Amino acid sequence: MPIQSAKTILKEYWDGRLPVDPVRIAAGLGVRVEQSFGEITNNAGQPLSGEFTLESGCPVIRYNATEAPVRQRFTVAHELGHYVLRHGPRHRDEAQNFSIDNYDIYEVAANNFAAELLMPAEAVSYLISQGVNTLQRLADSFNVSTVAMNIRLKKLGI
Ligand SMILES: [Zn+2]
Repeated sequence: MPIQSAKTILKEYWDGRLPVDPVRIAAGLGVRVEQSFGEITNNAGQPLSGEFTLESGCPVIRYNATEAPVRQRFTVAHELGHYVLRHGPRHRDEAQNFSIDNYDIYEVAANNFAAELLMPAEAVSYLISQGVNTLQRLADSFNVSTVAMNIRLKKLGI
């Protein structure tokens, strides 16, 4: 489901260029994307990586713009997953929600959506066939972390 949803959205809203721009895709879907500078926090006062909310019925994504750019991109894609997969109006994400060790079904689904959106399976295969075959070069091509790229390659069985 998450992966198929991401594929459908890529088909409709992606211009085919790498790296995929999740903010642009969100805009295409009518989602407002805003930067946060650490002012959105959890109950312990620690800054969140991002959140998805509905405000007056309008979808809004906020992401922590003080984190590394690769992380910001993943956050936007993950929050967009919550929207597209209709997970409901309020998701607040701490760092651990993006972990591969997270077993919350909504978080896993949003992560799978984000991985397909930012690292489309066909684009990964294509780049590898063109000789882009180190973890670092692939991560750079998709503008994701090497950690995210490594997980992606394992899931794709590469
Ligand atoms: Zn989440």
